[in-house]
Amino acid sequence: MTPQNIPLLLTSPESRQVMEGDCACSSSLEIPRPASLNLDSLRIPDGMIHLPLDDDFQIYLPPHGQRGASLLNREAVSVLNSFDLSPWHSHPKNQQKLALLDGFLSQGLLETDAPQPASYSDTLTAWLHITDRCNLLCSYCYLPHVREDMSIETAQAAIQAVVRSAKAHSYHRVKLKYAGGEPLIRFPFILQLHEYAKVRFAEAELNLEAVLLSNGTLLTDEIAQTLASLNIRLMISLDGLGDAHDSQRPHASGKGSFAEVSAGIDCALSSGLVPNISVTVSAKTIDGLPDLLEWVLRKDLPFNLNFYRENELSMQQNGLQYNNEKMIAGLLKAFKVIEFNLPRHNGLGSMIDRANLQSSHLRTCDVGENYLVFDQNGQIAKCQMLMRKPSASIHDQDPLSIIRMDKTGLQNLPVVEKEGCKTCEWKHWCAGGCSLATYRASGRYDVKSPNCNIYKAVFPEALRLEGLRILKYANKSL
Ligand code: SF4
Ligand code: SF4
Repeated sequence: MTPQNIPLLLTSPESRQVMEGDCACSSSLEIPRPASLNLDSLRIPDGMIHLPLDDDFQIYLPPHGQRGASLLNREAVSVLNSFDLSPWHSHPKNQQKLALLDGFLSQGLLETDAPQPASYSDTLTAWLHITDRCNLLCSYCYLPHVREDMSIETAQAAIQAVVRSAKAHSYHRVKLKYAGGEPLIRFPFILQLHEYAKVRFAEAELNLEAVLLSNGTLLTDEIAQTLASLNIRLMISLDGLGDAHDSQRPHASGKGSFAEVSAGIDCALSSGLVPNISVTVSAKTIDGLPDLLEWVLRKDLPFNLNFYRENELSMQQNGLQYNNEKMIAGLLKAFKVIEFNLPRHNGLGSMIDRANLQSSHLRTCDVGENYLVFDQNGQIAKCQMLMRKPSASIHDQDPLSIIRMDKTGLQNLPVVEKEGCKTCEWKHWCAGGCSLATYRASGRYDVKSPNCNIYKAVFPEALRLEGLRILKYANKSL
């Protein structure tokens, strides 16, 4: 129940919520109100998405920035649409009304000039493939498992190469992904490498963020506690409960791995380390997705859903490739589970494959722009799925420049250059899908994703879930 005749703007519960007299709104001032704001220059941005949530609220998604969705009640919608802010703004003592104006500005619902989307982010991501070995044999894996490890000399040279490129391109932050194979096969190596990275990044005045990508089967209390103490985040792959997971992530012997992954997740949680659950959704696992999400949400774990991507090795596997109808029906069923277990964390950025409804962006991912993938021999590729087609190496002075200039192979084009996407209302958040998947399906990079129909069918529902989540948790804080 909302108060009558009071404009109400509610934002994601991660933003600070304030209640000011008869007007409640968010005032997380990402964009402070300029001292001399020209009200005539204010406008609702082109491309804003708004959908009804219920009889009282509309959900708004602004097309610029990283603000996510906002909820506006009827009175706030009417203020936004009428631009009738002048009488309020001219009375500086009217803090409540100014707070609403600030809320519109900070949430991107009003703007003066359309901000130009930045082409490059302030974070350089480096994927370190520290081993090709793995204790599992997943059906969709793109790696040949040649049983090779990265040497410490190669790993240190990779860190130095990352630092050189990060400095050359003025990044402030580097995200290191310790990956494999299964990186926990070499946990002492990770610790040694992480210590080295910390020193090099500190010397270079670069912020370091580290994440370990694991299958979760080798996690122990001791490892989890060490990761937590080093502030290394953990991502664990889990594709279903029991047989659903085991059907695509078995051991080489054929034995399932679910029981070990589940135990690993409990280990992490008891050590205060909250893993992010990475789910690969295929035709084999879509039916089990609702049960999996119920399990994940009961444990209050963040998750991301990735659609299976065919690769040269997985092509020989049967039963993974989904069709649109099955995927849409399965996702909508899974979303119902989310609706009845609304999480505190925001899932807009991770619920639908490579789309990110939390944050507008020009390109689907950082490939070719802010991304370096090091294989175990020190070769550098654009994407982890293309490790066998490297463009640069640890010996290059600035590998990122070489990656950015490489116009052969994978091209991660901006969404406005993709046929079919230019006029799409979702283009700011979808960006046209994974370029590699598009190329495999069509032989072209400059066209829309083969998953386009799935995306368009489920985006509105994902946004509605976010509206319900905001309503649930924002109301609690009022
Ligand atoms: S792939 Fe489809 S949903 Fe995504 S931006 Fe292109 S047209 Fe829109
Ligand atoms: S090109 Fe596709 S597979 Fe590679 S990082 Fe981007 S989204 Fe992922």
